[in-house]
Amino acid sequence: MRFPTGFVGHGAPTNALNDARGAQWRRWAESLPRPSAILSISAHFEQAPPSIGATSTVPLVYDFWGFPQPLYEITYAAPGAPAVADDIKRLLPDAVVDEADRGLDHGTWVPLLHMYPEADIPVVQLSLPWVEDPARMFELGRRLAPLRDDGVFILGSGNLVHNLRAADWAGGPTPGWAADFDAWLGETLDEDRDDALQNYVDHPLAHVCHPTKEHFVPLLVAAGAATEHDEVSFPIADFDLGSVSMRSVQFG
Ligand code: ZN
Repeated sequence: MRFPTGFVGHGAPTNALNDARGAQWRRWAESLPRPSAILSISAHFEQAPPSIGATSTVPLVYDFWGFPQPLYEITYAAPGAPAVADDIKRLLPDAVVDEADRGLDHGTWVPLLHMYPEADIPVVQLSLPWVEDPARMFELGRRLAPLRDDGVFILGSGNLVHNLRAADWAGGPTPGWAADFDAWLGETLDEDRDDALQNYVDHPLAHVCHPTKEHFVPLLVAAGAATEHDEVSFPIADFDLGSVSMRSVQFG
């Protein structure tokens, strides 16, 4: 069974406690087969060379500041995925670093808390090594693609529009630039995804939508792990905080 690949928009850490958002994520997971393991590529783990997080259950990383205390008390004790980590090392020609103490960050555990609430599916994180090099991030996904045949869910986590200076915590209307870039992605992913994605920085709105690129490039890994035969669908397509795209993508 070749497992679909995906990208999840994670938004603010407060989504950990957001039942409505959680229900959307849960419905998506329930529509999928059960993965043998999850390989998460999160915006919040930037490190080169490619680095593998903990392969045993270690404490979560609470990599956000000034949020309500209950968020810092959440646990998600999923098993590690040492066999997937070994496969990653076999598949990547680059030196791969082990970060044995590095737990899951909120880009990973906030969505998974809702998608797989029993925390019974092994999870491993791989870092984003080349945030400024879209073609190389795409190639990283291509190399990881064989994991799909073992039932591994390759899941990028970020946001497809992510400019926190423009975030509206009162949840106002979505500005045109955010809606336009998000809509362009929706069309592009359906039609001409490989070239357009690798050249996304040429889009006139790319800079305003991504002043930094780490929340976008996990999509490139997921898309790189897909083939042209994989159908694209959008289990979620809306916004948080006005301009933060929560669009989630499924390939296959
Ligand atoms: Zn984030």
